[in-house]
Amino acid sequence: MSEYEAVIGLEVHVQLATHSKLFCACSTSFGNPPNTNVCEVCSGMPGALPAPNQQAIHFAVLAGLATRCTINRQSIFARKNYFYPDLPSGYQISQFDLPVCEHGHLDIRVDANIRKIGITRIHLENDAGKNIHVSNENASYVDLNRAGTPLIEIVSEPDMHTPAEAAAYLKTLHGLVTYLGISDGNMEEGNFRCDANISLRPKGSGKLGTRAELKNLNSFRNVQRALEFEIGRQEDILESGKEIIQETRLYDAAKNITMAMRGKEEAQDYRYFPDPDLLPVNILPEDLEKWKNELPEMPWERSVRFGKMTGLPEAEIDVLLQNKNLADFFEKASEKSDPHKIAALILGPLMRECNAGNIPPDPAFWKMTSESMAKLAGMIEKGLISSKIANDIFHDLFSMGYDPEIYVKEKGLAQISDDSALEQTIEQILQENPKEVEAYRAGKKKLMSFFVGQVMRATKGKANPAIVNKLLVKNLEEN
Ligand code: ADP
Ligand code: MG
Ligand code: ZN
Repeated sequence: MSEYEAVIGLEVHVQLATHSKLFCACSTSFGNPPNTNVCEVCSGMPGALPAPNQQAIHFAVLAGLATRCTINRQSIFARKNYFYPDLPSGYQISQFDLPVCEHGHLDIRVDANIRKIGITRIHLENDAGKNIHVSNENASYVDLNRAGTPLIEIVSEPDMHTPAEAAAYLKTLHGLVTYLGISDGNMEEGNFRCDANISLRPKGSGKLGTRAELKNLNSFRNVQRALEFEIGRQEDILESGKEIIQETRLYDAAKNITMAMRGKEEAQDYRYFPDPDLLPVNILPEDLEKWKNELPEMPWERSVRFGKMTGLPEAEIDVLLQNKNLADFFEKASEKSDPHKIAALILGPLMRECNAGNIPPDPAFWKMTSESMAKLAGMIEKGLISSKIANDIFHDLFSMGYDPEIYVKEKGLAQISDDSALEQTIEQILQENPKEVEAYRAGKKKLMSFFVGQVMRATKGKANPAIVNKLLVKNLEEN
């Protein structure tokens, strides 16, 4: 990339976590037998009347508030006309002229820099069904279970300039919608998917070049790789003096290439018009006020707060914040024990358990509770066990969900911090080693480590080293 600058804008489709579809009462649950979550509305029967899902509007507004958008008091559903077998009505109900939210922004962090990415608009629309092509049967099927599920489309300004920025934007947005609880963000089920638009222009030019739109990007990594490939492709074309064709391209992850899919359609091709079956969406000022008040702490605010609680750098805080359940787990445990110790246990032994066992870094999948975590950290803090013992027993605590206090007691692992219990051992060791005692008292202070070592061996490493030292000094110097 010497002469050219890349310009990237993303369109992200987020499936909203409502129980029912956008315009009917059918369930949105995933994985049911084909065509069982279907009625006359979502199967496009003529004359069936849609009725908007209030929860979906609420969720769209939460997304807009979190991205500092203007919330339009009135927005309009429009028909976007095209034919496809999984769209039985022949049109998608979307928003065109007046979307529910517009003119917002999202701050992202790339390396150490904060960049502000404009959000053009957020609009509501319904999803299509699924076409299933079965090659060995020479047949195609249509499953309408997904038809009519609510989506928001979040359209960014062409404000990004590198594939890494695009990936950071997507991750931030994904974190946001899952934090808000408006989507499960499941990328494998297609509940968070992205089309990436990219063009090149000569460096320093203020004009936008012709763009390609990349579809089928189902992971953060694929978005980044597809954009990297596309920059190279467009660069080659421009350098050979040819022009970029505006088109939609598909990304093939296995081959890591993009391929032409179809010419890019323009808005006029869709013959948008306001849906005559639906009234404008009106948002009441009292609802808007209520929704503003229920906005949770944003992930970036939480990141700053966790930084203050633990004194850890951002990269480590990011690990704690990778999903809401984990952040809640850390926060809950920190109410009862030292946040820095809790964070160290999560970042160290806990993440190691997840990686080794291929377990998601999400407490919903663990047996260990935040109470156990707090207890374990508290036991280290009080000197009941050493950090080393905590590390050694972590696997058992994590995989079996044992209570650390009971476990340590039953296994006899508690550190001996009780003076009288240690006094006896120390007296015995001094008696057994009279020559060393004499040498120590004659000034050979280096022998202290010898005595400590003897006590540790006698107690199988469970003696509290600070107390052992204190008692040895007392016995050797005073008697
Ligand atoms: P459509 O829905 O037809 O794809 P939109 O106007 O909604 O069109 O824009 C889609 C996305 O493309 C937006 O995110 C926008 O920022 C981005 N975009 C528009 N023009 C360019 C361009 N020349 N280069 C890169 N991205 C662009
Ligand atoms: Mg598009
Ligand atoms: Zn239905």
